[in-house]
Amino acid sequence: MKAKELRVIDSHFHFCDYIGFNQIAIAAGYTNTEECLHKAFQDNNIVHGVVMGNKTLDPAGHHYPDYMSYCIGLDSNVFYDNMDLMVEQVEENLKRKQCCGIKLYPGYNHVYVYDELYDPIYELARKYNKPVAIHTGLTATANALLKYSHPMTLDEAAVKYPDVQFVMCHIGNPFLQDAIAVLEKNHNVAVDLSGLLEGKIPDMVTFLRDKQGYISMLRDWLNYLGSYDRVMFGTDWPLANFADYITFVKDFIPETYWDDVFFNNANRIYQLGL
Ligand SMILES: [Zn+2]
Repeated sequence: MKAKELRVIDSHFHFCDYIGFNQIAIAAGYTNTEECLHKAFQDNNIVHGVVMGNKTLDPAGHHYPDYMSYCIGLDSNVFYDNMDLMVEQVEENLKRKQCCGIKLYPGYNHVYVYDELYDPIYELARKYNKPVAIHTGLTATANALLKYSHPMTLDEAAVKYPDVQFVMCHIGNPFLQDAIAVLEKNHNVAVDLSGLLEGKIPDMVTFLRDKQGYISMLRDWLNYLGSYDRVMFGTDWPLANFADYITFVKDFIPETYWDDVFFNNANRIYQLGL
């Protein structure tokens, strides 16, 4: 009998016409188009995805197919605009069913996530009962600052807002130990595993063997944490290849937790209703 096929939600990817994504998509084996993305979802049994929003807060700039939801993203393109306008626009997005959360980009924005500047944003997350996903760990651009994106900064935000659900994106990579401490202490923080791979991996068997030290750190720290109900699969597409990423995550998540990590947790945390 054929084994039950694993259903997958990609809880963290990007889908925007940012010109820089075109080359990045090619390096991962794709084109940055909806057609290509849809086929890749089907090929890998990815039934739904959560877009991490970029570029604009205007709800008119956020239209996605039905198999996607999105977090409205306060990236550096919008961050230094008028705060009152930002709050107003974020709220307009949160009123939509398809908008399943908020995304913050500290590191790229030089403000700590516990700064009072974010208070009205967290108030909205509370009001609409939607999670706040936060970029943590390494940044893609050199003028970003790691002190703002260090996973430890989520500790103070999580304590300040105990009734807000946080998502620590990228498991604070490479600050894994600090990330796990924040997750262990704060049960209102979940984590996504996106952003750990880049491009198309030519040979996964060789890759998994060469990176076994790093992969065993991921496996051991997640095992130490023992909270597989707060761990979500995500890729950061178009940065990475879906098939590679699924193979990679299966290598360090015990099989008994695959249904939760690849599907159930994202469905519950982002309230996707699948
Ligand atoms: Zn991302």
